Amino acid sequence: MIRQVRTHVSQNEPLLFELSSPGKVGYQLPELDVPPVDAAGTLGAQNIRAEIEGFPEVSEVEAIRHFTRLSTWNHAIDLGMYPLGSCTMKYNPRINELVARTEGLAWAHPYQPESLAQGALEIMARLEAALLEITGMDAITLQPAAGAHGELTGILVARALLASRGDPRKKVLIPDSAHGTNPATAAIAGYAVENIKSNGQGMIDVAELARLVDGDVAALMITNPNTLGVFEANIRAIAEILHAKGALLYMDGANMNALVGVVRPGDNGVDVMHLNLHKTFSTPHGGGGPGSGPVAVKAELAPFLPIPRLKRDGGKWALDYERGQSIGRVRAFYGNFGVLVRALAYIMAHGGAGLRNATLDAVLNATYIRKGIEAHYDIATEAPSMHECVFSDARQAKRGVHTGDIGKRLIDYGFHPYTVSFPLIVHGSMMIEPTETESKRDLDLFIDALVSIAREVEEEPETVLKAPHSARISRVDEVRAARKPVLRWRPAT
Ligand SMILES: *Cc1c(COP(=O)(O)O)cnc(C)c1O
Repeated sequence: MIRQVRTHVSQNEPLLFELSSPGKVGYQLPELDVPPVDAAGTLGAQNIRAEIEGFPEVSEVEAIRHFTRLSTWNHAIDLGMYPLGSCTMKYNPRINELVARTEGLAWAHPYQPESLAQGALEIMARLEAALLEITGMDAITLQPAAGAHGELTGILVARALLASRGDPRKKVLIPDSAHGTNPATAAIAGYAVENIKSNGQGMIDVAELARLVDGDVAALMITNPNTLGVFEANIRAIAEILHAKGALLYMDGANMNALVGVVRPGDNGVDVMHLNLHKTFSTPHGGGGPGSGPVAVKAELAPFLPIPRLKRDGGKWALDYERGQSIGRVRAFYGNFGVLVRALAYIMAHGGAGLRNATLDAVLNATYIRKGIEAHYDIATEAPSMHECVFSDARQAKRGVHTGDIGKRLIDYGFHPYTVSFPLIVHGSMMIEPTETESKRDLDLFIDALVSIAREVEEEPETVLKAPHSARISRVDEVRAARKPVLRWRPAT
């Protein structure tokens, strides 16, 4: 008989607030060696807070242990594969961190005069040039703070161009496979959203598109490869249909991990696009940021890009605010500079051939997984997979096991779940994106896990339905967590 241990330090970590005991501090200050100042007298009593209600008082080691223990509850890319489709959870080389923490860059002040920030501006200029080369576009802004923010910037820039022609138009077309941020962007930019159905191969139906594009359409927002991991092979024909009616082609470039060094959107008729530097160009993400969503455009749209823009002035870099047609600022200062540094470090460390190789490996890895599990799960489309492969739980659902259950069971095997139930056009979808940074050994372990789970579904579905068994917290009430989130800790009274 094994004695049940009720509370174990790392099994049931309390809230930091619950660890608090009055008077404990986690810091030590040196003796005051300047004359004391009466803070209330100097700043005004109304600006001095005597107490913060419920503020946790803990020692340094308690704070450190608390957060270190919590960190071990999480899955992380440094721990194992993180095949969360659409998110490009690649391993981010440590050299990027080292470079981003270079003192002169990490401590550069946004109000530093241009003459003293030439190095930082040079980094931005080099990154702009590299991204233009990679995308085949003409001009770019590094300002937007994430992919969705880039989308909004890009659509506002497109709208500004159309408005300058006297006709901003009314609608944006969006395929049913699009990321949810696309319709949200179009709506916030003031457009009505019209849906386009995908065809049997998971691609945009070109005939249907030709039927839908009229003088009211401002743009089509396309993701390429799309969220099924399928390359939109008709992209040039699609661009021609739009351009013939005076509409623009927006490309959501969040999936550029499948294209870098192989295909340039600018060569395929794309007018405006965003990149997710935190995905494709290697910044740790998933914890809520920071990110970076540069927007690249064709020359015709360049005058409308946000200010300030970089310019050369007497052999030095300067910031140009005098751009009358600009949509204005979309963010304070110059974007998330640290992410820009990481992206340039990543690009320069790889070089052109290395970037291309990463793309080929990303596609190879996704295809390898597809082949490895194809006999056990239903593939969503016969079209070749690019950087991710999408399956459905149709076969397992007959035994009462769904995509969410299989994802949770993966946790017991040491993997982060794939993306569950997205894209929406595939019922019970399982979206798997391994990225290029996984070794064959890890891919084999992952395939092995999914094949093993498929067998469990046949032989002992309860095991899968009750998973995870190894995690500190198993099944939570997801609906309640979403509908009635507890966002504020209140001291016990
Ligand atoms: C991740 C993603 C986005 C949104 O990017 P954020 O940086 O999370 O705002 C948009 N579209 C696609 C296809 C994506 O994968």
